[in-house]
Amino acid sequence: MEKIKLGISTCLLGENVRYDGGHKLDRFITDTLGQYVEYVPVCPEVECGLPIPRESMHLKGDPDSPRLVTTRTKQDMTDRMAQWARKHVTELEKEDLCGFIFKSNSPSSGMERIKVYNEKGMPVKKGVGIFAKIFMDHFPLLPVEEEGRLHDPNLRENFIERIFTLKRWREVLERKESRGYVVDFHTRHKLLILSHSPKHYQTMGKLVAKAKELPIKELYQQYQTILMEALQLKSTPKKNGNVLQHMMGYFKEQLSSDEKQELLEVIDHYRQEYVPLIVPITLINHYVRKYDQPYLKEQVYLNPHPLELQLRNHV
Ligand code: SF4
Repeated sequence: MEKIKLGISTCLLGENVRYDGGHKLDRFITDTLGQYVEYVPVCPEVECGLPIPRESMHLKGDPDSPRLVTTRTKQDMTDRMAQWARKHVTELEKEDLCGFIFKSNSPSSGMERIKVYNEKGMPVKKGVGIFAKIFMDHFPLLPVEEEGRLHDPNLRENFIERIFTLKRWREVLERKESRGYVVDFHTRHKLLILSHSPKHYQTMGKLVAKAKELPIKELYQQYQTILMEALQLKSTPKKNGNVLQHMMGYFKEQLSSDEKQELLEVIDHYRQEYVPLIVPITLINHYVRKYDQPYLKEQVYLNPHPLELQLRNHV
C-alpha cells in the first residue's frame, strides 16, 4: 500500500511555526505513524500571513461562533483567518487526504474543547479552532483527531483503523467503476464493519445486495457515506466479542471440544478485559491459517493495520 496522505498541524512535525517561535514535535506522529503516512502540513496562522514570532491569540465571545482575537492588543483576526481557511480547504481537495491530525488547545487548529473567553475574561471549554471548524464542515466524513487524544490507545486504534480503511477504499475509487469492486471491498470488510456497528453492517449488506438496481455513482456515494459513518462508531469489547464468536462458528467441524473450550475462554477473558484483543485474534488467525479458512483469511478485521503499530495490545 502506498503511503496514506494526512493533513497535520505543522508544529506537530517539529517546525518552528508557533507564536513563540517554538514547535510541538510529537514523536509518535513523526517516527511511528510517519512510516506509513505522508503528511500535508498546514499552519493556519502562518499561512494566513501572520509572522513568527507573533502575539498569542484566543477565542472570545459566543462559543458557537467565537472571534479570534490577539490576547494583548485585542486585534480581531477572525475574518482574515476564515477567508484564508475557506480558500485553503478547497485547495486541499486535490490532496485526497484520508484524515487530519490537529494540534490540541489551539484557537486556530484545535478540534474540540477550546477555551472561549467571555466579556469578563472567564473561559469555557466549548470552542473549536477557526480553521479546524471550517475544515471539518468542508470534509464532514474525514477521520480527524488531535495529537493528545492519539495517546489514548482506544482513540488511536479507531483513528488508525479509519485512515487505513479509507485508504483501501480510495484504491477502489482509483480503479474503473465496477459494482464488483464494491462487492469485493465489502466482502473483505464485513467483520470490521460489524465490529463497529451491527446496524450499519445490516444497512450496507442490503445496499450491496441491490447493487445492480442502483446507478453505479449512487452506489459508490451511498456506500462511502455509510462506511465512514459506521467507522466513526467505536468498537467495544462487547461488539468485538460478538465478532470473535461469529468467527468461531467457521471452525465448528475442525476444532476439538478442548480447542473450542479454550477459544471460548480466551474470548470471554477479552470481553471481561483481562486480556487484550490481540490474544483471541492471534488464536483465531492461527486456526485460519491451519485450516485455510477461505472467507476468514480475506477478512481485513484480522489484519486491519501493520503489526508494528502495536494496536489491539491494551486492555
Ligand atoms: S497550532 Fe496550528 S496555528 Fe498554531 S502553530 Fe501549530 S499549526 Fe500553526
